[in-house]
Amino acid sequence: MDLHDKSFHFSAKRIEALQRLHIYDSDDLLSYYPYRFDTISSSPISEWKIKEKVTFEAEVISRAITFRNGRFASTKFEVMHEDTVLKITIFNRPWASKLAMNSRITITGIYMGNHKVTAMNYDTKPLHDHEAVTPVYSTKEGIQQRTIRASIKTVYEVLQNEIIDYVPEEMIRKYHLLRRSEAYRKIHFPESLEDTKQAFRTLKYEEFLRFFIAMELNKDEEGLLSYKQPKNIDITKVKTMISCLPFSLTKDQVDTLNAIINDMRSNVPMYRLVQGDVGCGKTVVAAFSMYACFLSGYQSALLAPTEILAKQHLASLKSMIKDPSISIEVLYSAMNTKEKKDILRRCEEGDIDILIGTHALIQDDVHFKKLGYVVADEQQRFGVEQRKALRLKGENTDFLLMSATPIPRTLAASLFSDMKVSTIETMPAGRKQPLTQLILENSFRSVLDEVNALLEEGHQLYVICAAVDENEAFKARDVNKMYINLSKLFYPRKVGMLHGQMSSDEKQSVMDAFAKNEIQILVSTTVVEVGMNVVNATGMIIYDADRFGLSQLHQLRGRIQRGNAVGKCWLLTDNKSEDVKERLNVLVKTTNGFEISYEDLRLRGPGDILGTRQSGVPDLILGNLYEDTKMIEVCRKDAKLIVEHCDQTDYISIIESVKQRRAQSAYID
Ligand code: ADP
Ligand code: MG
Repeated sequence: MDLHDKSFHFSAKRIEALQRLHIYDSDDLLSYYPYRFDTISSSPISEWKIKEKVTFEAEVISRAITFRNGRFASTKFEVMHEDTVLKITIFNRPWASKLAMNSRITITGIYMGNHKVTAMNYDTKPLHDHEAVTPVYSTKEGIQQRTIRASIKTVYEVLQNEIIDYVPEEMIRKYHLLRRSEAYRKIHFPESLEDTKQAFRTLKYEEFLRFFIAMELNKDEEGLLSYKQPKNIDITKVKTMISCLPFSLTKDQVDTLNAIINDMRSNVPMYRLVQGDVGCGKTVVAAFSMYACFLSGYQSALLAPTEILAKQHLASLKSMIKDPSISIEVLYSAMNTKEKKDILRRCEEGDIDILIGTHALIQDDVHFKKLGYVVADEQQRFGVEQRKALRLKGENTDFLLMSATPIPRTLAASLFSDMKVSTIETMPAGRKQPLTQLILENSFRSVLDEVNALLEEGHQLYVICAAVDENEAFKARDVNKMYINLSKLFYPRKVGMLHGQMSSDEKQSVMDAFAKNEIQILVSTTVVEVGMNVVNATGMIIYDADRFGLSQLHQLRGRIQRGNAVGKCWLLTDNKSEDVKERLNVLVKTTNGFEISYEDLRLRGPGDILGTRQSGVPDLILGNLYEDTKMIEVCRKDAKLIVEHCDQTDYISIIESVKQRRAQSAYID
């Protein structure tokens, strides 16, 4: 329900505060879970502060007297605690008069000074059975904990009888889960830590179940065939071509390529994921597998997320596959109409063997004569529907996905249970890693000498900004302004700029100039994240680094380690919060892509890493893919069962609810 709903009586100011926490409706609020719980234990009376909440066990030493004033009652009595007599007042609990002399009770209340306590609660359980638990929510400046707590309380009280259980009865009973309404109560208003544990278990189960149902639904829609025409591949020709490379393949590259070729030769359509860190050499593997496909008489398509990467692939494929009889072309939306028409015609006639392209490849006007193989590079940038659209342009298509955010094999195997997974772990021999430094200031003043030295040596520099134009709301350094400033600062060196709003020709001429070192400093958005390959550019400054994901930053710095000179990357931010520092320091400490995606997954949820967000798979708030292995196994199986028997009455509501959320999130994208 909308936060403006009258039954909540929220002020405009309250709603504005909640929206700043990305809470827009009652569901968001109820699933705004505490990130920790403070337990109140009893502290000695000498340490009590006025207005502080206190909990203590004491002996009743006077008869309780109740005063009434209309419907209002206050009860007063005395207790002995630590040899001190405390005067207790409790409102609207007239039954407190029945407290027996000398009985021991545990009181929670507010200390009013002068040995007076206004009790909120009391009972006869001993103190050690009590854990007064206070949920603590993550918040932003100017929004108090109690505002969040009060808002959740209001919404919960209004809605508690309307909270629907989506988890099927069968599972609730089997795993002794709580009702959702109960789980919300126990997580937001816990009486003990045990409450919070039960609540987390229930909510986490539902979260993983939804996650895997969404994954399962996507899988269905991949619409894979169970049979295809096997491809006939002359492997010696592939090997000969590989031997012409100026380097030899790593063992993981060879193994991966062999696995792909075996898949192509089989009669089951390939559905394989190749994952490996930036620079591990996935393109080479893709290139020779496409060459193998060409040898078997089929066309291949290579899907890339950006025009820059598509063009880069064209150049590297042409340099690696030196077979005069193969025709490799590129297609992207900004191409001129005549060229495009020509490519489309030749592709349809089967005159092009490998067609590389951006989203333009997916359009209806693209037809292949005999498409047998589709490779999606940086697969997390594409939605399931887009990949499928391309694959269905052929009849016997094998399908390869490539990802630069690798996760451990076992996790990959359980997440992508429908795919075969190849992991390239080893880096090419002699590969260096860039040095990274975190600068807690959104300016590179303090490294200017280092930057100048780098330019002095004849190397080039990238300067990355999070925005193109100045934007009040976004408040990040922008490409336009930075371009003007740096042009002055570094005069007479040449500065160029690059961003997605430029025309294709403009972009191309800037990139060419940078590649030829006619430009020494390139101010750019993340359009250079993948695909730029300028060996001489060894420095990178990233403004507002806290605005990017770790994996994205890691990809970006991959640009400055294309050759032998050690790259230098400076991450700038003036966000001094501990979280941000901790997160960015991961990049300073490690260049291992597995560790980086682990941190990203832990901190940002799986959407960015697995590319599942585009396909409407909900993100995990409570669950952790690395740690909750047992629950993952259980939920994966349950999700499968539910989707397979989707017309069973008990399963309908959760499936519908997942589908609805997917539709919404697809819409937001
Ligand atoms: P990514 O996995 O990030 O797509 P690329 O395929 O673009 O990596 O490879 C990065 C660079 O490493 C390229 O310049 C490529 O030519 C080079 N490379 C790939 N494999 C090897 C290897 N086995 N030995 C040496 N260099 C290699
Ligand atoms: Mg790549």
